[in-house]
Amino acid sequence: MPRTYSKLKRLYIDADMTAGTELELDRDQSNYLLNVLRMQTGAELIVFNGRDGAWLATQAHTQAERRQKAVCLRLLALIAPQTPPADLWFGFAPLKTGRLDYVVQKATEMGAGTIQPVITRYTQTTRLNLDRLRANVIEAAEQCEVLSIPVLNQDVSLSQLLSDWPSGRQLIVADEGQPAGSPIERLQQLGDRPSVSVLIGPEGGFSDEERQILLSKQYVIPISLGPRILRADTAAVAALAVVQSIIGDWR
Ligand code: SAH
Repeated sequence: MPRTYSKLKRLYIDADMTAGTELELDRDQSNYLLNVLRMQTGAELIVFNGRDGAWLATQAHTQAERRQKAVCLRLLALIAPQTPPADLWFGFAPLKTGRLDYVVQKATEMGAGTIQPVITRYTQTTRLNLDRLRANVIEAAEQCEVLSIPVLNQDVSLSQLLSDWPSGRQLIVADEGQPAGSPIERLQQLGDRPSVSVLIGPEGGFSDEERQILLSKQYVIPISLGPRILRADTAAVAALAVVQSIIGDWR
């Protein structure tokens, strides 16, 4: 997105967008613009829906209409084309609330296209509030100029995940049991922008049995993230950074 617009507020709105479109915002979004951002008639902002690129918009309603507490936005110009959905898949064992929010926000920022909660033997949280997680994904996308919103899936058990594993896709597993060493060479062997998934274990780590099963799969590539044991949320960001920089879209 051009830096010229970096000072403008960015807002995700689930509505089709073309030039000249007028968007009636729902109550929550109207309230947010009027009472939290204190936007005036004529003020500009950026809106996106995850499908139609980023648009410069202006608040079109007059002061009188404003009293009705509904905001109408008029789309002025497309300022950034839609980016394609990212192929990068990110799986993690759900953590307790604060860290869970953090992990989905960071996965969004780091460019995951799919975010998949995976239930393992030692997973701490099994009841997930997907609406809350999706709100975190959207907030991160708004903040970080991510135009393609990652798909957030329902949780799946590790065994189900492995039995449905798609052919041709490699699964990079952060495994603290690997001898500490750089993952660069191992990842470079995968070639140029391969289809990859990244999996992080729970705070308690994978069980011995899970680890054995994972390591027995042809498509699993275990990597070390260095000589220290990282917390799962740190490991998530570290693994995604390594993958994006060596075989992903940082290059
Ligand atoms: N059970 C472990 C810690 C698990 S850390 C213990 O207490 O010893 C949580 C997850 O982060 C792990 O399952 C792994 O996926 C990842 N992780 C943490 N440190 C790592 C490292 N040094 N190398 C690779 N993966 C790591």
